[in-house]
Amino acid sequence: MVGGGPAGAWCAYLLARAGVQVTLVHWSGYAPGGIELVSGRARRQIEQHCPDFFQSAAPGVEIQETISLWSTPEPVVLSAMFNPWGPGIAVERTLFDHALRDLARTGGVDVRADAKVVGIEREDDAGWKLSLRLEDDKISSLRVEFVVLATGRAAISFFDRSAAPESSTIALMTSLPVRHDGPQQALYIEKAGRGWWYALPAQNGCCFAGFCLERDELKKRRGSLKEFYIEQLRGTKLLAPLLPRTIHIGDSHISGRMAGARPFGRTAGDGWIAVGDAAYAPDPLSGMGIELALESAGLGAGVVLEAMTSNRKAVNSNAAFAEYDAAMRAHVQEHDKAAALHYGRQESRSAGPSGD
Ligand SMILES: Cc1cc2nc3c(=O)[nH]c(=O)nc-3n(C[C@H](O)[C@H](O)[C@H](O)COP(=O)(O)OP(=O)(O)OC[C@H]3O[C@@H](n4cnc5c(N)ncnc54)[C@H](O)[C@@H]3O)c2cc1C
Repeated sequence: MVGGGPAGAWCAYLLARAGVQVTLVHWSGYAPGGIELVSGRARRQIEQHCPDFFQSAAPGVEIQETISLWSTPEPVVLSAMFNPWGPGIAVERTLFDHALRDLARTGGVDVRADAKVVGIEREDDAGWKLSLRLEDDKISSLRVEFVVLATGRAAISFFDRSAAPESSTIALMTSLPVRHDGPQQALYIEKAGRGWWYALPAQNGCCFAGFCLERDELKKRRGSLKEFYIEQLRGTKLLAPLLPRTIHIGDSHISGRMAGARPFGRTAGDGWIAVGDAAYAPDPLSGMGIELALESAGLGAGVVLEAMTSNRKAVNSNAAFAEYDAAMRAHVQEHDKAAALHYGRQESRSAGPSGD
């Protein structure tokens, strides 16, 4: 398993529980920080295996409602009661990822959270040779039968596969103080000014707010990043009233992350599959990234298991992996449709926000 975010850790956990010997190699160089929403559905998947995961290992804030202001004159409030999966939970990503890797370790995975995979080569019909860069910069190698690529949206250097160009959308994110008289357990989504805002509550009473916009728009700004961020935030109808009159943030506390959807040309090949964002990175504003990461991890684990338990020839047969590729595409279409519904539009947003 290359990469120990939600997709990699979950896939490794499922495989190990089914009796497969799994090594998970994780390097945290691209690991996302901040607060993210684990959807009700994703939460249930984890809780089915580990009922107290969100009480003990990765506590967060339960999200009881979504308050959104996109193209409507007034905010639309959706109660989590109407979600058949129940409320989602806003968690700190570093904590969440760490807890999932711990779960994988408990399930029997050999977790190596100190190494970066820098090369993957076909050895012979039987498997792959991975080159790992260790913390002291030394290179070591690892021989494996299958590779599951769970490196997230940033890393495409393996398996010579094409990807849609990185989207032109960027998210600026930071933690903000909030007034105490607003709803404490809500996800806010708002289209305002030059982009899209989302805000999630944090356990310390602050909120974590992200502003997704076109990179070109960001380049046009006058003044510092902090001034731009606050000016745009002040122009919001939903978020601004939740904030104190004076907002203290330093430039260095605003982090940037590539956003928008990003599909990859191939999600599987002979003896390898990609899961999570490494297969398809959905639009972050759909709130489905972690859910899709877990879904694809489950599907991917199933395919690897099937290939391993069939005869030797089938191990490297393209058929099982092609089936996964087709299944992933079907899931992506479903997610695309759901995302389009969220945006109140018919067409897919796979190409990223268009700004209209
Ligand atoms: C701004 C923004 C906000 C978002 N908010 C939400 C949200 O609220 N809810 C939601 O469900 N989704 C959200 N998403 C999407 C979500 O973050 C991703 O879909 C999810 O992280 C995908 O998980 P993953 O395991 O596939 O990849 P990642 O989480 O990216 O994990 C991959 C891991 O692999 C490691 N890695 C990479 N290369 C190597 C290598 N060569 N060797 C070893 N390790 C390696 C990386 O450092 C990283 O830790 C958001 C996305 C963005 C951009």
